[in-house]
Amino acid sequence: MRGAITGDFALGEVTWFRVGGAVETLFQPADEDDLATFLRALPEDVPVMTIGLGSNSLIREGGVPGVAIRLPMRGFGAIERVGETRIRVGAAAPDKQVAKAALDFGLGGFAFYFGIPGGIGGALRMNAGANGGDTSQRVVEVRAIDRRGEVHVFANADMGYAYRHCSAPGDLIFTSAVFEGVAADKAEIETQMAAVTEHRETAQPIRSKTGGSTFKNPPGQSAWKLVDAAGMRGFRVGGAQVSEMHCNFLINTGDATAYDIELLGETVRARVLETSGVQLEWEIKRFGRFAAGRAVEPFLGA
Ligand SMILES: Cc1cc2nc3c(=O)[nH]c(=O)nc-3n(C[C@H](O)[C@H](O)[C@H](O)COP(=O)(O)OP(=O)(O)OC[C@H]3O[C@@H](n4cnc5c(N)ncnc54)[C@H](O)[C@@H]3O)c2cc1C
Repeated sequence: MRGAITGDFALGEVTWFRVGGAVETLFQPADEDDLATFLRALPEDVPVMTIGLGSNSLIREGGVPGVAIRLPMRGFGAIERVGETRIRVGAAAPDKQVAKAALDFGLGGFAFYFGIPGGIGGALRMNAGANGGDTSQRVVEVRAIDRRGEVHVFANADMGYAYRHCSAPGDLIFTSAVFEGVAADKAEIETQMAAVTEHRETAQPIRSKTGGSTFKNPPGQSAWKLVDAAGMRGFRVGGAQVSEMHCNFLINTGDATAYDIELLGETVRARVLETSGVQLEWEIKRFGRFAAGRAVEPFLGA
């Protein structure tokens, strides 16, 4: 193996929330072969999770058992043009870099990535999207490695994309993808990117420690409106707060713990269920174990 192995790595620190415990082992592979070799050699009973830029993840304070895989830019960050309207992107590449590269190539259809603070691996898993675009609209094929170290190539239809959802098996580690854009005028792309930035600056707490949209929008409804109607705007649990600016965002105001954030999220879910009868579904991915005596029940056990 040529990649880097780190024991007892403070995984919570690489998430946007900046809270949570450590993972037993972090592996940062040198390239796809290295990742496959590592996974083939790893005993079957060792759990494996993947983390990207941590902008949609909450790590619980009891830490994460097993191995976290984090793909580094070197080896997984390349963005190259592979056809008139196609680009191949490594899964470690930040979405924002993809939007900028597409602009350089004169390729439209990627401006929505300009405002999403994650990486392409996370975008492929979450079907990340904004401003009318999403990942599923652009994906042609995805390369991935499974828990046994086998390489797969999936077509768009195999990914089972729906709103913020991908039904490809959960053990897959996406390593790169080919995306299809549309030939476009650079000035027009720049205008779209400026609109994306303007929207973020005015509507989202983008400079806070947050995980982005906490809950998925239920069919035909807005999660934030339900949270607002339940009277939860600005509500606090310890150092965690429902954003005053956008109440589908939870914020670490400075000294929140992962417990505070998850307890706040479940309090919101319980109140929304009470007031509107809707069961909000977490969009944020939560990983790891609760600390002793600090488990949080879904809907607070209601
Ligand atoms: C301020 C803010 C604004 C946001 N706005 C938006 C928005 O407008 N639209 C939107 O869709 N999201 C938004 N998000 C959420 C987040 O940026 C996206 O979901 C993003 O795609 C997550 O990417 P990541 O690299 O940070 O993933 P992580 O948080 O690291 O991981 C998220 C999930 O993806 C999986 N994953 C990560 N990398 C890989 C890989 N290589 N292979 C397999 N699985 C992988 C993880 O296991 C986890 O399940 C926002 C977040 C913040 C903090």
